[in-house]
Amino acid sequence: MTLAVIKFGGTSVGDARAMRQSAQIVRSAVEKFDHIIVVTSAMGKSPDPRDQVKVTDTLINAARSAADGDGEFFHKAKRQLADKHLTAIDGAVDNPEDRRRIAEEIDRLLDGFETLCASVRVLGEVTPRALDAISGLGERIAARILAGALRSVGVNAESIDATEIVVTDDRFQAAAPLMDETRERTHTVLHRMLDRGVVPVVTGFIGATRTGVPTTLGRGGSDYSASIIAAAMDATDVFNYTDVNGVLSTDPRIAPDARTIDRLTAQEMSEMAYYGASVLHPMTIAPLIERNIPLRVKNTFNPDHPGTLIVHDSYIEGAHALKAVTTVREVSVITVTGRGMKGVPGIAARTFTAVARTGTSVLMFSQASAETNICLVVPRASTARVKSELQSEMAGEISRHEIDEVTSFDEASIITVVGQGISDTPGVSGRVFGALGNAGINVYAIAQGSSECSISMVVGDKVCDDAVRAVHQLTLH
Ligand code: ADP
Ligand code: ASP
Ligand code: MG
Repeated sequence: MTLAVIKFGGTSVGDARAMRQSAQIVRSAVEKFDHIIVVTSAMGKSPDPRDQVKVTDTLINAARSAADGDGEFFHKAKRQLADKHLTAIDGAVDNPEDRRRIAEEIDRLLDGFETLCASVRVLGEVTPRALDAISGLGERIAARILAGALRSVGVNAESIDATEIVVTDDRFQAAAPLMDETRERTHTVLHRMLDRGVVPVVTGFIGATRTGVPTTLGRGGSDYSASIIAAAMDATDVFNYTDVNGVLSTDPRIAPDARTIDRLTAQEMSEMAYYGASVLHPMTIAPLIERNIPLRVKNTFNPDHPGTLIVHDSYIEGAHALKAVTTVREVSVITVTGRGMKGVPGIAARTFTAVARTGTSVLMFSQASAETNICLVVPRASTARVKSELQSEMAGEISRHEIDEVTSFDEASIITVVGQGISDTPGVSGRVFGALGNAGINVYAIAQGSSECSISMVVGDKVCDDAVRAVHQLTLH
């Protein structure tokens, strides 16, 4: 039995025309697979440059401005959202009764949005929990319209909110799925739909705690939703439809000569996503690995292009040694230095424990061999918290001059080069540093990923794009 999970990103449902295009893709897939489950993002920007409204961004901006006391913006946002969604219904859903019913449901959801924003304004703050309830509304609306668009092309589709099937912990804004419960609920609910010959259209991005409080999986989380559902349902295939021809050798907005990578190992894809390739949420690959489910990244607007296939082999015969370059911007390099660190056991452990107390994830780490220097790369938003925690942890050593002050370099970006050849092709790192050297770019810190299929380097913010272009050339030849 074949079961395909097909996920559509924001642009793929960005307006009525995009929704119709996505609906056609599902219609063709219905002929090829025994069962189909669709997962959708909220409506993103339209392929038409006149409509650049991104629903999730608008919802979040409205919640934040309400928290700042603005009593106008969320009303305006509601009108803008009603407009965008009603236009989509008009253009994508053919049956008048269906149109009326969906529009009514959307009115109700948008009234809920307005009420939530009004309470946020009264409270003067937006908690992560409230932000999740508000920012997840876009997917609930989009799923209803996309299901209508599918019925318009003859696919028997029904929308379903992932709050009913994806059970998560309560880390609002970045919730993690509780897989056993999710599997049980997803199985029961979705199989009941599939058995009736229905194509479920599931909301991406959102879930709910055991007690039913809505959560989100973090920005870009609909990719992760698709993998969670695929793993829970033992899917045979996952398709991730977006607005570019698959996973590219770098961000096309930085290097227009970026090309599609035809095949990537799961490990390479995980490194790329973790180190900033925004095409997939960093957690997307994890649920698929255990069950060996292949993932294809394809272009909704160019569906005949083969896109990228992500496989679970550890090695792809004949593939290029260096495949891709990614960036993480706005990071800081925090350095703990001092002669007194030399040979003192436990300094690294204490450094990590102190950072962990701040809830920050360390993107890169290196220790000089002379043991006089530990350097950590963290998101810039966490720099002040991390520095002050380290300073208090090391207060004794600092006062005895065994450790100098904890310092940071704040105008930094990480660039990461990914490819299975990094561990087994001699001279690869030399070529990477040579390319940066030739472009006159200074590297502040280096780390090789534990999987040995990536090297990450810290460069200055201002030269980040130049660094990407210089290293990207190596992936082309
Ligand atoms: P979706 O809404 O379909 O999930 P996203 O905007 O989240 O789409 O991700 C797709 C975008 O990611 C592309 O339009 C592209 O600009 C950007 N991008 C950045 N790096 C890469 C990469 N290495 N490969 C493909 N796209 C990338
Ligand atoms: N709509 C959500 C976001 O914009 C999730 C997604 O698109 O994947 O972050
Ligand atoms: Mg995305």
